[in-house]
Amino acid sequence: MEKLAIFGGKPARDKAISYGRQCIEQDDIEAVVDTLKSDYLTCGPKINELENKLCEVTGAKYAVAVSSGTAALHIAAMAAGFGEGDEVIVSSITFAASSNCVLYCGAKPVFADIRHDTYNIEPASIRSLITPKTKGVIAVDFTGQAVESDEIRAICREYGLIFIEDAAHAIGTKYRGQPVGSIADMTCFSFHPVKTVTAGEGGAVTTNDEKTYRRLLRLRSHGITRHQDEMVHPSDAGWYNEQVELGYNYRMTDIQAALLISQLGKLDRFSGRRHQIVQMYDEAFSNIPEIIVQKEIPESDTTRHLYILCLNTERLSCDRRQFFDAMTAENVCPQVHYLPVYMHSYYEKLGYVKGSCPNAEKYYNESMSLPLYYSMTDKDVEDVICAVKKVVDYYKIKD
Ligand SMILES: *Cc1c(COP(=O)(O)O)cnc(C)c1O
Repeated sequence: MEKLAIFGGKPARDKAISYGRQCIEQDDIEAVVDTLKSDYLTCGPKINELENKLCEVTGAKYAVAVSSGTAALHIAAMAAGFGEGDEVIVSSITFAASSNCVLYCGAKPVFADIRHDTYNIEPASIRSLITPKTKGVIAVDFTGQAVESDEIRAICREYGLIFIEDAAHAIGTKYRGQPVGSIADMTCFSFHPVKTVTAGEGGAVTTNDEKTYRRLLRLRSHGITRHQDEMVHPSDAGWYNEQVELGYNYRMTDIQAALLISQLGKLDRFSGRRHQIVQMYDEAFSNIPEIIVQKEIPESDTTRHLYILCLNTERLSCDRRQFFDAMTAENVCPQVHYLPVYMHSYYEKLGYVKGSCPNAEKYYNESMSLPLYYSMTDKDVEDVICAVKKVVDYYKIKD
């Protein structure tokens, strides 16, 4: 057996590889430079062009570009009308922003458990948490795999709830052939550099409802409107605009929009390569009983953002921490996505307690994300596989 790097052996690769990184090409750079030389740095033509492109990619009627995925979630939660006294059911395995947006509105996030095999929100768990105070559901397409939208939509229809899809991982994913972004009442995207396509920082909300769209536009820019039918004191004076509610400055710049338009043109290529890498991993790991790979539902045609490796702890003599540290020493740096949101100390202070979502907590204790991004070479992928096999071999319990 090969000596692990953590015990002084030679690492699986010389240069460290991280779990994700952006891919910026020459034409992306030129698109940004062209915009820097143009008349508009913000609120200009690139925002319209981007929003049209997002409608094309997602099949949604309307898209509102904003400064981050978190801003997208915030204005979506506001447009949903979440407020004091309301409860909103949220995936427990997600980035904190998915539920922070509920807190921003003064409402209470209630955490639903995940399915043990797909790691996505469990529709039966949503149903079990509904009370007269429940106003909505925020379901996360974890790793890019679509949530079970038919089931979630049916629950939302039955109880009159707003369905917000957090698709920060899922640009390019389809559910039953329909692009994510045109399925829920509102869908939120993030274009942070670690996501499949990037604006540096950026986000968007898509919707098919015109009234919601107009509200989102207003909330993006201070709650100020130029539409007379939205004003309390309508006026057609050329200078007149009116703040009708409290909004924010969540605008995206044209510089960011130019970058994102260029990146969206590469979505199929980026997505295809991610798919290839996922297949290489799946194939390599399928006959290793010490590790478990994420189950895919046939309804989701997934553009994968994360590749999750779960440890079969019954067959390994190490815990997740030891496995993670051994991988890092091999120069293959995994990450963990995510701590169940309610276990963050801030949420503990709000009164949330451990134990409420057993599948989420088990998943958290056994999982890690392997490197997955467009510009990984086949050699990079082989190095990752080699490191996983090396660490498994070392720690596996011999029959
Ligand atoms: C990245 C991410 C966000 C937040 O997006 P930002 O653009 O970083 O604000 C929200 N939800 C999920 C699931 C994410 O992965």
